[in-house]
Amino acid sequence: MSCAQAPVIVWFRRDLRLRDNAALTRAVEMRAPVLPVYIADESEEGEWRLGAASRWWLHHSLEELDRDLRELGSCLIVRRGAARTVLHELQRQTGAQCVFYQRRYEAAAQKNERCVADDLRAAGAEVVAFTGATFFCPQQVQNGSGKPYQVFTPFWKACLKLGLHAGVLPKPERLLAPEKWPASLKINALCLLPKTDWAQGISANWQPGEAGAQRELEHFLRAAVGGYNAGRDRPDQALTSRLSPHLHFGEISPRQVAAATQTYSGEGVASFLREVGWREFAHHLLYHFPHLDCRPLRPAFEKFPWIEDEMGLAAWQRGQTGYPLVDAGMRQLWQTGWMHNRVRMVAASFLVKDLLVDWRCGAEWFWDTLVDADLANNSLGWQWVAGCGADAAPFFRIFNPVTQGEKFDPEGAYVRRWVPELASLPVRWLHAPWRAPAQVLRAAHVRLGDNYPEPIIDHAFARDRALSALATTKS
Ligand code: FAD
Repeated sequence: MSCAQAPVIVWFRRDLRLRDNAALTRAVEMRAPVLPVYIADESEEGEWRLGAASRWWLHHSLEELDRDLRELGSCLIVRRGAARTVLHELQRQTGAQCVFYQRRYEAAAQKNERCVADDLRAAGAEVVAFTGATFFCPQQVQNGSGKPYQVFTPFWKACLKLGLHAGVLPKPERLLAPEKWPASLKINALCLLPKTDWAQGISANWQPGEAGAQRELEHFLRAAVGGYNAGRDRPDQALTSRLSPHLHFGEISPRQVAAATQTYSGEGVASFLREVGWREFAHHLLYHFPHLDCRPLRPAFEKFPWIEDEMGLAAWQRGQTGYPLVDAGMRQLWQTGWMHNRVRMVAASFLVKDLLVDWRCGAEWFWDTLVDADLANNSLGWQWVAGCGADAAPFFRIFNPVTQGEKFDPEGAYVRRWVPELASLPVRWLHAPWRAPAQVLRAAHVRLGDNYPEPIIDHAFARDRALSALATTKS
């Protein structure tokens, strides 16, 4: 059904969904035609241009959104350029009186939306920004002195007190189409897909879009949430939700996730929601501390003596450090665009503490390779591991990649899957192949320094070196 009335523009950003989308619902409530728009605008991302894995995801997510909109009698208008110019132009062309969108919390995106809102308001349009990427807007959750929380537990208690379950909005039944559709680019024209198809491993593992997000959530709640508390640390088992890329691109909202858990109870659910709470914490921190991505929250770490170790960094990136758990994680990342949280912590710790490579180099690599690359979560994760962030693990707590492997991958299934050249080693030696007797290595066809590397650094030496480096920040 089309309508001659002036349309309402809904600007889709990191909220690529139809359910629980306050901007879209509000537009439908206006009983006016709706113009759904996506703008590929580099200034939304600032210094952090989308990484290759994120671009792959975004392409497919936009296709899904367009398909879902078409089922409601609408479609996605795709444009490229500065959002302020594109929206201004669309507003003028169509006579739209209202522009609605959901907020983002990265500094560049915030700046962009301020410019957009100022321009459109100056042109007489009504502009409304909604909260949807997080449970709450950052100003809503503050401590007794009106300051942002920097410790997670009181932050999360305050969130729980506000209530996570309020009002999930349904998917609209139909969208009124404008009488005339403005021109749109094809999604392909955004050139988001890689020129050589290296993404087969990623495609085999993921279904971008709202339906994929619902599927992951339902599967997780049915099969794994009960055992999440203990299971979440086991990379050898699929016991986490895999919702991170879907949450990042806004194909599902945290409110929807919380609402879906309401019929479940127990430690597993509480612990799962707590992790979603870390995401909330990260987004609020990024809003209050916009340099979270590039500067340590603890100023003492500004002068930490990082080492420029290009060979070490390259070995880490390629999964060739000689430490099987680290290598398995880095290869899982390369092949599927995702890495288990426990292994992210161990692999990141290895780079930052064993190799003394600046956490920002690791964050950049994750940014390019993760399908869930998220400025808030990635920055918080790296600062947490490096000991320089809010509520971070102290720097002196240095993960031992061998004992972490023995504890969290006790049968070695994770390492065998991602480091197949070690698959025949008995589990006793799997996490430290250099300790295995020569005949065991021979029988397992492992040739250290040939088909699998010797450790690139001795962990005990690296640990002492890291602690000495830490001491210099205290002088
Ligand atoms: P689940 O265990 O099922 O958790 C549910 C949801 O909670 C996740 O989807 C995620 O949105 C959120 N969450 C879980 N753990 C964390 C956490 N520690 N911090 C913030 N949010 C969390 N997560 C990203 O989404 N993007 C990143 O770029 C990212 N980079 C990271 C870098 C490092 C060095 C580390 C240590 C962690 C990083 N994380 C990042 C956090 C975490 O590893 C992933 O969110 C998690 O592994 C995703 O898997 P899942 O969806 O199965 O998680």
